[in-house]
Amino acid sequence: MAISISVVRSPKRLFSTTMRIINRGEIELRAPQRINIETLFDFVAKNTKFLAKSLSIPQQAILPKTLATGTDLFLFGKRYLLEIIPAQKQNIVVNHNDKVVAMAKRGKSISRHSIYDLLTNELSSYIITRTTQLAPQMSLIPFGKIRFKLVRSLWGSCTKTGSLTFNKRLIHYPKGVIDYVIIHELAHLQQHNHSKAFWDIVEKHCPEHKQARLALKKRIYG
Ligand SMILES: [Zn+2]
Repeated sequence: MAISISVVRSPKRLFSTTMRIINRGEIELRAPQRINIETLFDFVAKNTKFLAKSLSIPQQAILPKTLATGTDLFLFGKRYLLEIIPAQKQNIVVNHNDKVVAMAKRGKSISRHSIYDLLTNELSSYIITRTTQLAPQMSLIPFGKIRFKLVRSLWGSCTKTGSLTFNKRLIHYPKGVIDYVIIHELAHLQQHNHSKAFWDIVEKHCPEHKQARLALKKRIYG
């Protein structure tokens, strides 16, 4: 399989080149503004392990920018097949057999962003329900707002005022993994760090946190 590498020349004062995996076989290089192409080739040649790693990501893990009918979509850990039908208004219907039907304004395809927006209701109703159940079980005081964002790598965050933010990509993960993220963020209401005391709280309420963390780290579902 081919690997595609895109180069972003950083407008900021960047002194070193960094590499990151965008998708399976897709790498982005961030390089200083004036770096020459030979230096970039050298950099890539020295990082072949990283190139190989980019191919180890499961094919469907990260959704493409534009989705068409026939794309696999994982919702709460279960695989669905996406079907797109043209409609006046964007909407989504999760058919509890094996299909997700998205109504798209342009007909044949829909953007990744729109899919996540349309699926946020499904995710938020689960997360809000579970957070309301888990907080008292953890003897935690009521929290602030719950928000949802589409970000690349942060699964959740917690502010000092108790507002929780969850990544919209969590919709792909099994409920047990989402519960771990909720417990992790709630535990931060008591411990604003990743100390042993923090992990003790997580362990107590989510004994299977190690498997959940691994699934998220490997981005098994998206
Ligand atoms: Zn944390």
